[in-house]
Amino acid sequence: MSQTLAINERQDFITTKGRQKAHLKCDADSIAGCVSQRACVYCGARVVLNPITDAIHLVHGPIGCSAYTWDIRGSLTSGEELFRNSFSTDLKEQDVIFGGEKKLSAAIDKLAIKYNPKLIFIYSTCIVGVIGDDLEAVAKAAAKRYGIQVIPVQSSGFIGNKSAGYRAACDALFRLIEPADRTMVGKDKSINYLGDFNLAGEAWIIRDYFRQMGVTVNVVLTGDASSADLKKATRASLNIIQCAGSMHYLAGRMEETYGIPFMQVSFLGLHDTADSLRRVAAAIGDKEVLARTEALIDRELAVTAPVIEDYRRKLAGKKAAVYVGGGFKAISLIKQFRELGIEVVMIGTQTGRQEEYDTIHELASDGTVILDDANPSELEKFMTEQQADLLVGGVKERPLAYKLGKAFIDHNHDRKHPLSGYVGAINFAKEVYSTVCSPVWKYVRSGDEGCE
Ligand code: SF4
Repeated sequence: MSQTLAINERQDFITTKGRQKAHLKCDADSIAGCVSQRACVYCGARVVLNPITDAIHLVHGPIGCSAYTWDIRGSLTSGEELFRNSFSTDLKEQDVIFGGEKKLSAAIDKLAIKYNPKLIFIYSTCIVGVIGDDLEAVAKAAAKRYGIQVIPVQSSGFIGNKSAGYRAACDALFRLIEPADRTMVGKDKSINYLGDFNLAGEAWIIRDYFRQMGVTVNVVLTGDASSADLKKATRASLNIIQCAGSMHYLAGRMEETYGIPFMQVSFLGLHDTADSLRRVAAAIGDKEVLARTEALIDRELAVTAPVIEDYRRKLAGKKAAVYVGGGFKAISLIKQFRELGIEVVMIGTQTGRQEEYDTIHELASDGTVILDDANPSELEKFMTEQQADLLVGGVKERPLAYKLGKAFIDHNHDRKHPLSGYVGAINFAKEVYSTVCSPVWKYVRSGDEGCE
């Protein structure tokens, strides 16, 4: 297969399983000249913190940064709706010349009086990194004035890529969860569930599985969490992480500082869901929990497995391309597509880590193209050359797929149906079937054989 790329420096970030080097370059800044599919640093931070239901999210920057991420996640709440607003200091040319601290302070005053919040996050954007406003000082003064928490999120665009935004959000969370009473650390037999943002109620589905197993979820970070919930985070005795890209760093800091161990889980697909539930039960180490877990898996599989088998019969032989945010989701998707009889022929991520790419390489079939931090031209090239029938991605990848006459599945923020757990596995299979086998393709692709 040809690997002629528009930008030669990208060669190290792409490999083909079985034909080229096993290791590819990743976790590096995007190359100048590429239209990277990655979101910016600020956006990376915002997506992690946004689901905190009773927080004010104040974006210190031009209005566009705020509009770009307004209500960005389809996170559901069982409590307050304050997080669904997007507030901005609306910086203008004069503020850039003379500094924006006064404007920021005035915005906090207005918000504190109008909404009486317990918590305000102030996000730094690109221009704030240039003019050097002191967010820390403004936040400290405002916190004192109103007796609330005001936490700066250091997410200006020049500190790195989207992963740096995840770290900035985790640093802000780490400040928020700091316990007043250190004797309470790791005291509960409960778990924290990190990296689930309650898209379409997914965190509620997983929380219910744990309830059936007899395991208490202390707090989800950050789906449907309030600031008071998050303040109890250090009481749990185990952290489990779904989205490693965003939360691995926080879990590491919590282990280092509070001695709370962590483990990676995934609730995508039948295999990974059962495996994760079993591993959590084993870590809890209670016979009753282990027995309840097996009973739960049996109950769920009795309903789900025949449905998946039916879709597998209809979809076997199709080919998928995957381009998602984090490495762990990509790994699960290879396995989940295999459950449906579909081979992944191209796979990449925005922020995957080396060890995740090693696992992807191990799992992928020979001939699969693996790529990090792709641009649109590469996605189009490899989807076409690999003859993928569908692309899994987010909002920025959707038009690429449709322009090429390929089916598309949104596995990102703004979908309205859950893809986690057993119910999510059925939703996923149904969606793959309805997009890949849509009758529309016979009108846009000559010789399309369609599905059963
Ligand atoms: S200006 Fe910077 S912070 Fe704002 S949306 Fe653009 S890249 Fe992100």
